[in-house]
Amino acid sequence: MRVINFNAGPAGLPLPALEAAREELIDFQKTGMSVMEHSHRGATYEAVHDEAIALFTELLAIPKSHGVTFVQGGASLQFGLIPMNFLPKGKSADYVVTGVWSEKAISEAKYLGEVRAAWAPPDGKFVRVPTQAELKLDPNAAYAHTTSNNTIYGTQFHTLPDTGAVPHVCDMSSDFMWRPIDVSKFAFIYAGAQKNIGPSGLVVVVANRDFIAKRRTDIPKIFQYQTHAENNSLYNTPNTWGIYLCRNVLRWMKSIGGLTALEVRNKEKAAVLYGAIDAAGGFYRCPVEPASRSVMNIVFRLPSEALEDKFVAEAKKANMVGLKGHRSAGGIRVSAYNAVSVEDIKALVSFMQTFSKANG
Ligand SMILES: *Cc1c(COP(=O)(O)O)cnc(C)c1O
Repeated sequence: MRVINFNAGPAGLPLPALEAAREELIDFQKTGMSVMEHSHRGATYEAVHDEAIALFTELLAIPKSHGVTFVQGGASLQFGLIPMNFLPKGKSADYVVTGVWSEKAISEAKYLGEVRAAWAPPDGKFVRVPTQAELKLDPNAAYAHTTSNNTIYGTQFHTLPDTGAVPHVCDMSSDFMWRPIDVSKFAFIYAGAQKNIGPSGLVVVVANRDFIAKRRTDIPKIFQYQTHAENNSLYNTPNTWGIYLCRNVLRWMKSIGGLTALEVRNKEKAAVLYGAIDAAGGFYRCPVEPASRSVMNIVFRLPSEALEDKFVAEAKKANMVGLKGHRSAGGIRVSAYNAVSVEDIKALVSFMQTFSKANG
């Protein structure tokens, strides 16, 4: 039996994507082997690979100026590779520090060159994202790095910063493809697949072709995004199984109406859940400022840590898992990525109402 999965990542995958994989696992399209066992240079696998890229391009309405590239090493490896590629000597890069992941991104970049925090919370508390007016952007920066959704603290930019003429590099790991975006505004978008679009071990890069081409060339070829981009992500063996599963997820996303439909569904989920938190007479309390509340990761506290533990344990008995907050933040975290349905959220809300009546 499947559980209602609120894991933060790796996260639940849409059932149709898994069922399709089960169906074709042993004998892919009557080739007598699984897609995992095919050569990455053969026509069978290449059709899957190209379909995944075509679906990303279609669903995100990616303009000709930009391309899709698959890389490995998780989003965390990109924290190091991005400054390696795009931070030349004598230049500085801007980072908007809105949570643990952006802190990691800026501290990795410090190994490679000069960096500035264009914003960090004055009191050290990650309960909101900055407004455009608060950003101290350097007009001469090599790039400006943002994190669109802060997975641990449950904050999200509802309008992403405008970095002007400075190339905008964005870590979208935990809210990639939850709604339509204007890709042309970004120089470089990257996302670990395991939150919203597939399994772990795969990172999707959507980047401006000219920006990638103008990388530093005094680093090993394998570290240059251009190497992977100009070889259609087949410079070396890619994560073929991960790309295949991503393709299944993208097919599902397309079948339910693409990003426009997902945005409606995701906003409804968030409205239902935040509504229930706010209507609980203070028993549930969301620490995030209303304008910065994330649609993807909804965090809240109960009156005590003992009650939070009890909440997680009883929810598990009710078939709902993945609700414990990140160890650095505590509390409850509901990760409501694309695969989580409105019904899943309604089941959780009904559990929350029973729990608060019994323990309030
Ligand atoms: C999960 C996450 C990461 C780290 O991903 P890995 O694939 O584990 O390296 C980075 N950034 C954000 C925003 C995340 O949510």
